[in-house]
Amino acid sequence: MSLADMPPLRDALERHDLLARKSFGQHFLLDLNITRKIARLAGIGPEDVVVEVGPGPGGLTRALLETGARVVAIEMDSRFMPILAELGEAADQRLEVVQGDALKVDASRAVGGVPAHVVANLPYNVGTQLLINWLTGPFLPVSMTLMFQKEVAERIAAQVNDDAYGRLAVIAQTVCEAKIVMDLPARAFTPPPKVNSAVIKLVPRAVIPPAAELAALERVTAAAFGQRRKMLRSSLKALGGGDLCEKAGISPDIRAENVPIEGFLALARATLP
Ligand code: SAM
Repeated sequence: MSLADMPPLRDALERHDLLARKSFGQHFLLDLNITRKIARLAGIGPEDVVVEVGPGPGGLTRALLETGARVVAIEMDSRFMPILAELGEAADQRLEVVQGDALKVDASRAVGGVPAHVVANLPYNVGTQLLINWLTGPFLPVSMTLMFQKEVAERIAAQVNDDAYGRLAVIAQTVCEAKIVMDLPARAFTPPPKVNSAVIKLVPRAVIPPAAELAALERVTAAAFGQRRKMLRSSLKALGGGDLCEKAGISPDIRAENVPIEGFLALARATLP
């Protein structure tokens, strides 16, 4: 059977008796029009290698395979292995499934060390941690097209002075350009989650700060946004307070939400020897 001949996902779910599990953050996209749109937004083509986290029953996986790309999918729930194996067969074995926890799997190794995109409808409980790992770890994807709860997507794309501006925005936008490219209502998922979702696309910038600066940025933003109502001289006290601000050329009398990304980078650099 080819990909085009595969039956609708709802049929396959019934045949395999697959019910969503809350503990794994399972909310499925069964409408191929939606998953194809996500694959289009990701800009994936036959030359590409894609890592998908949490393929579940494979709705997004199928759309990714339809582009001709090679897909390495990391899924924790073993119940989906048979349905994903059928999909792999229909796609001339361009799908490789790694059964395991995406937080622990070495994605770079899983794709054989080649550059890869990440496209995923992420499990809510581990989505932001996965993103931080990709942004700061050794495996920086060529691009990331990720479904999050809308509120989380807004935090990633937030601008200085926004209420949603925080650690996630600073770290994500230091490394990448980030843009919300699609909104999806809760009813688009089976079963529907409690909140709406959005797809955000992140593309790494041409120049990315070295790992030591990113680690310092994590420390500075954790301290500054950990007490976001306080002025920097007080929230950054443990890292040098007013002296650190002076060294970085940033006013100590402003709050974290008013410091632009370059300001945080200057503060991070000022903490380093
Ligand atoms: N991609 C599918 C779709 O769009 O219909 C399913 C998305 S569902 C929101 C999240 C998927 O991630 C589930 O299949 C779940 O089993 C899987 N998952 C949850 N935690 C995981 C983890 N730590 N590592 C890998 N997969 C995980």
